[in-house]
Amino acid sequence: MRVSKAFIPTVKETPGEAEIPSHKLMLRAGLMRKVASGFYEYLPLGQRVILKVNQIIREEMERAGAQEVLMPIMTPAELWQETGRWQKYGKELMRVKDRHDRDYALGPTHEEVITDMVRRELKSYKQLPMNLFQIATKFRDEVRPRFGVMRSREFLMKDGYSFDVDDAACDKTYWIMFEAYKRIFKRCGLLCSPVEADSGLIGGSFTHEFMVLADSGEAAIAMCEACGYAANMEKAAGVPSPAAVSQATTEAFATVDTPEKYTVEDVGVLLKLPPSQFIKTLIFLADGKPIAVLIRGDHEVNEVKVQNALGTTELVLAPAEKVMEVTGAPVGFAGPVGLKGVKILADNALKDGHDYVTGALVKDKHLVHVEIGRDCAAPWYNDFRSVVTGDGCPKCGKPLKAGRGIEVGQTFKLGTKYSKSMKCVYLGEDSKDHEAVMGCYGIGVTRTVAAAIEQHNDAEGILWPISLAPYQVHLLLLNPAEPEVAKVADQCYEDLKKAGYEVLYDDRADSSAGFKFKDADLLGMPLSVRVGSRGLKEGVIEVKRRREKEPAKVPPAQVLDKVKEFAVEEWKLCAP
Ligand code: ATP
Ligand code: MG
Repeated sequence: MRVSKAFIPTVKETPGEAEIPSHKLMLRAGLMRKVASGFYEYLPLGQRVILKVNQIIREEMERAGAQEVLMPIMTPAELWQETGRWQKYGKELMRVKDRHDRDYALGPTHEEVITDMVRRELKSYKQLPMNLFQIATKFRDEVRPRFGVMRSREFLMKDGYSFDVDDAACDKTYWIMFEAYKRIFKRCGLLCSPVEADSGLIGGSFTHEFMVLADSGEAAIAMCEACGYAANMEKAAGVPSPAAVSQATTEAFATVDTPEKYTVEDVGVLLKLPPSQFIKTLIFLADGKPIAVLIRGDHEVNEVKVQNALGTTELVLAPAEKVMEVTGAPVGFAGPVGLKGVKILADNALKDGHDYVTGALVKDKHLVHVEIGRDCAAPWYNDFRSVVTGDGCPKCGKPLKAGRGIEVGQTFKLGTKYSKSMKCVYLGEDSKDHEAVMGCYGIGVTRTVAAAIEQHNDAEGILWPISLAPYQVHLLLLNPAEPEVAKVADQCYEDLKKAGYEVLYDDRADSSAGFKFKDADLLGMPLSVRVGSRGLKEGVIEVKRRREKEPAKVPPAQVLDKVKEFAVEEWKLCAP
């Protein structure tokens, strides 16, 4: 493609709306533009990258034995009602009505639609396993769309669904897909780790998220460098640091004055006690009903764990008036001693400790020498906290580290959650009906593009992995006014294309060499060939890898060989 004829609107200045490198660079390099909050259009270079990700996905799905289908974006409400997700999904589900006043959702994911499709056709165990996928537009009315296509309201997703005869067969499919995912992200040039995760709204028994480690990532992850354990914070378990006091106290609990001290830190300073000797008592509304969660003073409540344990769909911190109503005191003085009328949950880490400090249910007062079980009833213990850096790894005990990641894909073993509620059954060898055992597998295609840039960029621009680059070779004609130079560059263009490369040829007559170099760095093709009069006078053309500082200078006859040599090196970086 000749740049003089192409639609590649690059931007010099950093756009104000963008916060993270990938968002800035996708706008600056002319890959996409915003249409409205959370809705983007992909320009030619962006679309080429998307098609490359899709192609890698298609090849790996074929290899894993999955077949491609295409389902509608508009999905009838009845299907969502069958599984209860019409209610459960909340506002993220974009709902629309047709002219007959019938309800639909713009599909955020397609478990219901595919299960409906398969149940109509599925008769016998002989038709299983079945493994189907699509690459299609998804809608989610995200509360906070941000970071460009990283979290948008309309995005491209590959979603796959498998149907097996039983649990063991489903496990087998799951691990085949898991391996396919590792190959896909490797081929996209991404350094990506599968982590154990919470299965959230989709449900099911176990799941992995594929995380690209990046500081700008929205997902918090706990990792163990010693044994490789990695889990999303929503799910991660850890061995807490020891309790401040390990022996029960014989002293009765007593009230102390703590005027104007609301936080564990402030009261701790006043009483000269460590935060780990405190019990924080948080009042939440779980589906509107107040509950109390007790947590050690140096820990934080993990709302996803609480919600999963309770099986509720909404969990929010209670507003101040509600805290007053439930505890009889303003926020900051809640405690379990004497707390009535609410279910009390406590994090496991509190079990081993003694001699605690808690709020007194009275303004400006705390209790000391509190023993759980003696001064208040034993609460419902469970893992309700988020792990923190330094907690012991649940697998090997070595210290965990906190990190951040971008979730580019997720695999779920669903079990019979959908086949049961939607009656997706087959006749088994035993002549009885059985529910199909399902798995589902998603990849955010557009998010993967952004994540690749997030992982591969520098101050000048993008450094595309060769597998995703819109073009593999960027050919620069540095002195367009000189016919001899232009002739050599034109010949290079033809030769490179004939050799099978995708070439972007900057043949613009009105741009300076400096401007073209800058554009090449911004657009980030892995290889460039620079044809200029100064080089030709010395009998050379420059061939450069984007990731290297210095170009190789070779005679015109050796340009193809050099490009090939560099391309081989680039492809090695994306080998599965
Ligand atoms: P997140 O936790 O980031 O909201 P999710 O877990 O809800 O994502 P899944 O239901 O697992 O998402 O969807 C599969 C994949 O689709 C994700 O791994 C992600 O790559 C992509 N994805 C999900 N939501 C968005 C979005 N709003 N914008 C772009 N891609 C998304
Ligand atoms: Mg997910």
